[in-house]
Amino acid sequence: KIIVIGSSNTDMVVKSPRIPAPGETILGGKFMQVAGGKGANQAVAAARSGGLVSFIGKIGNDTLGNEAKKGLDRENIDTSNMYVDPTNPSGVALIFVSEEGENSISVASGANDTLSPEDITHSESFIKEHDILLVQFETPMPTVRKAIEVAKKHQLKVIVNPAPAGQLQEDLFPLIDLIIPNETETELITGIKITDHESMVNAADQLLAKGVKNVLITLGSKGVYLKNEEMDTIVPAYKVNAKDTTAAGDTFCGALSVALSNDQLLLEAIETANASAGLSTQKDGAQTSIPYQKEVIDFMEK
Ligand code: ADP
Repeated sequence: KIIVIGSSNTDMVVKSPRIPAPGETILGGKFMQVAGGKGANQAVAAARSGGLVSFIGKIGNDTLGNEAKKGLDRENIDTSNMYVDPTNPSGVALIFVSEEGENSISVASGANDTLSPEDITHSESFIKEHDILLVQFETPMPTVRKAIEVAKKHQLKVIVNPAPAGQLQEDLFPLIDLIIPNETETELITGIKITDHESMVNAADQLLAKGVKNVLITLGSKGVYLKNEEMDTIVPAYKVNAKDTTAAGDTFCGALSVALSNDQLLLEAIETANASAGLSTQKDGAQTSIPYQKEVIDFMEK
C-alpha cells in the first residue's frame, strides 16, 4: 500500500500559441480546468497503475477543493485522512502551455501551505499501515520532514520527489530510499549543473555520500539516470510524440512506486514508469494525461 502526502491543486490551463511575455496579452487560447497538484497527481498515477493508494493533503472549504477530493475518491484513492482548512482557499495553479508543449506555471498554494506537522502526527496510525511513502515539496518543509520521519519510524520505504526544486536538510538524506529529482532539482540540491555524463555522476555520488540509497535523475526525453551501490546506468525513455509534458514527472513517480510495491526490480520498475510518463506527454493537462495500467502494458508490448 502506498501513501502519498502532498499538494492538491486545481489547474487552470490556457493553451495559447506561445507563452505570453510580461505585459503582453495574447488571444486565441483554449481553456481547460484540470485536477492537479503534484501530490494528487502522483496519487492518481499510482492508482491508475493499479496500486492501493491513500492520499493526505489539505483543501479549503470551497467548491474547487471538494471537486478535487471527489476526483480522488473516483480513482478509489483513500482520502479519509485529508484535512480541510476553514480559512484558506484550495490550491490553484495558473498554467500557460505553448503550442510546442512548453509550460509556465504560477501556484497559489492556499490550504496546501497549512498542511502541518501536527496533521501528520494526527495521521500516524493511518500512515503506518502503508509500505511506501511518496512525498514532494509542494507542502511546507516541516511537514515533509515529519512525513519522512513518521514513515521511517514505521519502516515504510521513503521516496522523495524534490519538486518544485528545494533544499533538503542534511539529516534527512539517510532516511531516503529513493530520491527522484529532474535536472534542475538536481542542480539546486547538489550545486552541480547537469551538462554532461560526468556532472550527472558527480551529482548522484554526492547524494549517495549523504546517505540516499538510490538516485534517479529524470532526463525528460532522454529517460532516467540511475545510480546506487551496484548500478550506474541510463534507462532510456520511450519514443513518443510529446504534446504536453505537464505531470510527466508526477506520472513517473506514481507509476514507479506501484511497480516497486509489486516487488519489480528497480530497473524494470523504471522502465514501466518511463512508459507511463512517456504516454502522459501525449495528452494535455495533469490528471487528464495520466494513463491507466492497461494502456501502459499495451504500449510496452508494442
Ligand atoms: P519533469 O517533468 O518533472 O521535469 P522530466 O522532464 O525529466 O521531469 O520527465 C520525467 C519523465 O517523463 C522522464 O524521465 C521520461 O520518462 C518521461 N518523459 C518526459 N518527457 C518525455 C519525452 N519528450 N519523451 C519521452 N518520455 C518523456
